[in-house]
Amino acid sequence: MESDALASLPLRIGISSCLLGNQVRYDAGHKHSAYITQTLGEYFEFVPFCPEVAIGLGIPRSPIRLVSVDGSIRVRGVENPQQDVTDALIENAEAVARQLHDVSAYLFKKGSPSCGMEGVKVYPVQSGQAVESVPGMFAATLMRALPELPVEEEGRLMDPCLRENFIERVFIYHRWLCYCASGMTPAALVAFHTRHKFSVLAHDESAYRELGRLIAGVGKRELGEVAAAYIRVLMRALARIATPKQHANVLMHIMGFFQAEFDSNDKVELLDLIDAYRQQQVPLLVPMTLIHHQLRCHPNDYVSAQYYINPHPRELMLRNRI
Ligand code: SF4
Repeated sequence: MESDALASLPLRIGISSCLLGNQVRYDAGHKHSAYITQTLGEYFEFVPFCPEVAIGLGIPRSPIRLVSVDGSIRVRGVENPQQDVTDALIENAEAVARQLHDVSAYLFKKGSPSCGMEGVKVYPVQSGQAVESVPGMFAATLMRALPELPVEEEGRLMDPCLRENFIERVFIYHRWLCYCASGMTPAALVAFHTRHKFSVLAHDESAYRELGRLIAGVGKRELGEVAAAYIRVLMRALARIATPKQHANVLMHIMGFFQAEFDSNDKVELLDLIDAYRQQQVPLLVPMTLIHHQLRCHPNDYVSAQYYINPHPRELMLRNRI
């Protein structure tokens, strides 16, 4: 059963250690995020890493930065440009990636030359203004090694849409890891897909069709090959933010399942709310609340089984602001 599979692994998230309040920064400080430790900490177990400490830079330490050297990006000391820790950070990230096989996501510290997920400034070798912005060296290597792993930065978590998107991906990827840990079978892969159909549809309709074609190949192609292709397409699709228009289309699709049972007042009310949501006059939670009510009045096993209906714990209130 699915609930057994879900219980089989704790939900663990890799994280930049300083975000948990650990005093590992170059100045011996931290960057504690109360939202992460207090709110997300209710649901996730954190696995901290500080790549700069792991490669022996010490606490406190001289700061480092990204530098453009002959067309490639290196990580060098700000005060001591002879110090180059690029290779050490890459090796550390590759070693960490091998430890993350049962981890459902990674949260990075914004702006760090090691841990920043994007937008870290790259400076010219000589003094001067930043010439470009890229991910930090550790983060870039980790993301390359684990392209399916949901990743996000703590700063971006303050954006309601990015936050909701990240947490939805975390729970979906965690379920995937649980399925894999339980021993993926053709039936389990089909069941996993069936219950995530509406979720995918909300993010990317063409990926929805592509995943359908992959699932149609179960039994005809080697299972490991189909599963690897499936999770790659799925996670890439989910990383696209679902727009109000896409959510509204899914809500209309769900409404179709109740069509026969609806009285005309219910139908008009739900259509009004979906339209109000599409125009961003009310949050997604509003039409979803009515859908939940309709599901209680007119039970439908297929719709109830969709993770789209309850993608993450209600207490996180993620659909209240999108
Ligand atoms: S951002 Fe990364 S490298 Fe810097 S202190 Fe935090 S965990 Fe360590």
